[in-house]
Amino acid sequence: MHDRFIFTRHKTTCYHCGTEADQVIKAVPYQAQVICAHCGATRVFVPRAEEVSPKGAYTRIGCFDVWELEPVAQCRNCDVLGPHDLFIGCNHFTARCRNCGFTHFYKFNLEYMGQCAIPGLGEEGTG
Ligand SMILES: [Zn+2]
Ligand SMILES: [Zn+2]
Repeated sequence: MHDRFIFTRHKTTCYHCGTEADQVIKAVPYQAQVICAHCGATRVFVPRAEEVSPKGAYTRIGCFDVWELEPVAQCRNCDVLGPHDLFIGCNHFTARCRNCGFTHFYKFNLEYMGQCAIPGLGEEGTG
């Protein structure tokens, strides 16, 4: 039993640390995440809609380059394991089945650091 939907990577310049590093992309039906493998900056997206829609229906201009990827995933609608059109921008994340057009649309929700980014915080002395 697993609900992994998309798991892929995209090597690009991290918006946070500015390093060219793998951005780990994970999506399940209830959440999507993009995590910088270098600095741990994590963006979380939450689902807004799931429907069969024409290509590009949810693609909008983001505040930085939109990533266009083609991961293979198993569609939850038609059950076919095949390529999906994946678009990730600064405030949206969409994955669309090429076979049936079923689209998951996620909206940017929050951002946090997966690793401790602020030295000294959370280490209060006992003296
Ligand atoms: Zn980074
Ligand atoms: Zn499908």
